[in-house]
Amino acid sequence: MKKIAILGSTGSIGTQALDVIRQNKDLFQVSALTAGKNIELLLEQIKEFNPEIVAVAEEKDALELKGKVKNLDVLWGIEGITCAARDSGSDMVLNALVGMMGLLPTYHSIKAGKDIALANKETLVAGGSVIMQAVQDYNVQIFPVDSEHSAIFQCLQGNKRENMKKIILTASGGPFRGYSLEGLKGVRPEDALKHPNWSMGSKITIDSATLMNKGLEIIEAAWLFNVPWDKIDVIVHPQSLIHSMVEYMDGSIMAQLGIPDMRVPIQYAFSFPQRLSNNLESLDFNSIGSFTFEKPNKEVFKCLQLAYDAIKEGGSYPVVLNAANEVLVHLFLEKKINFLDIQNNIIRIIETHNPVYHLDLDDILEIDKEIREKVLKECL
Ligand code: NDP
Repeated sequence: MKKIAILGSTGSIGTQALDVIRQNKDLFQVSALTAGKNIELLLEQIKEFNPEIVAVAEEKDALELKGKVKNLDVLWGIEGITCAARDSGSDMVLNALVGMMGLLPTYHSIKAGKDIALANKETLVAGGSVIMQAVQDYNVQIFPVDSEHSAIFQCLQGNKRENMKKIILTASGGPFRGYSLEGLKGVRPEDALKHPNWSMGSKITIDSATLMNKGLEIIEAAWLFNVPWDKIDVIVHPQSLIHSMVEYMDGSIMAQLGIPDMRVPIQYAFSFPQRLSNNLESLDFNSIGSFTFEKPNKEVFKCLQLAYDAIKEGGSYPVVLNAANEVLVHLFLEKKINFLDIQNNIIRIIETHNPVYHLDLDDILEIDKEIREKVLKECL
């Protein structure tokens, strides 16, 4: 029985992960659950999955929960979430938190010797050097949950890494594929939140609309698979059925395909190296018609090039990219800035940044905080 701590259990990935566990109760058990504000759903999850520890964002919610569930350790804040991840007796931690808040729980879980199922890409974007060093030092594994990275991970099985020529990340293109800069001027959060193929949390859905999501995935792939930035290509594939590909030195390309359902990569991260059956639909090639591909438009969707530049320059640039993006996406969702202000402000923040290299964990946290303050001060 594998014990799994689920961080972000009330979110899109978290609820789908619990569905995978629900379907495989003889194999997986929940050791910890953490949530932000959705206490009602968390309460239902506690009753169904009976975790040892839970943690929530705020103390008042933790106290309310303690009153409702007897004999349960209820913690709060980022310290509480980190403790729940680290101390619950889990074999694996699924990090399905959103944003940079995922970094500390991941780091401390690795130090406690736990394998990580990683959905929270921001952890690797901002803290890739520190996290991958810790993975080596504490001899644990990271299993990708992001569908593209799970696809690459699957395409690498049975092949030698040194034979890999490049990674090809597929992108849906988001809801504004084909738009001009002019066309993007008036788009509203409600338009951007309509992703054509995936149902996801609001932050990643906006990132998909700006193509920053693909940018963050380039950086995530570079760290996860130890591949230089110039060996990672992006191709727009609007059907989202090929989840990504690996090209080998002989020109052979391995692709991983399937219906767009996150329970597939979540399940693979939990069960690796085994594959488990499930009740999901098969991909029906008769009804697909055709697969299409397009070059991403980096002139309009500037976040993609910004991410390439950030990983190429290294040091603090990816931390700055990530922090600025998180705050600006939040401001856009609150209708305080326009859609194009996201990319335009990231460009401005990066241009005025004095880079720092050889970062430790404290440096990363400090730069992240500074940039968040700077964005709030200068971009509103
Ligand atoms: P959601 O917004 O749906 O869920 C986020 C989770 O984090 C929720 O459980 C939320 O709790 C919790 N949370 C938010 N703020 C806090 C806080 N301050 N303290 C504690 N917990 C908090 O996000 P997704 O599931 O969509 O995404 C999670 C991660 O997975 C992201 O990094 C995303 O990029 C990545 N990912 C997601 C995919 C998807 O299909 N959704 C696909 C690939 C990657 P609550 O709701 O209770 O407030």
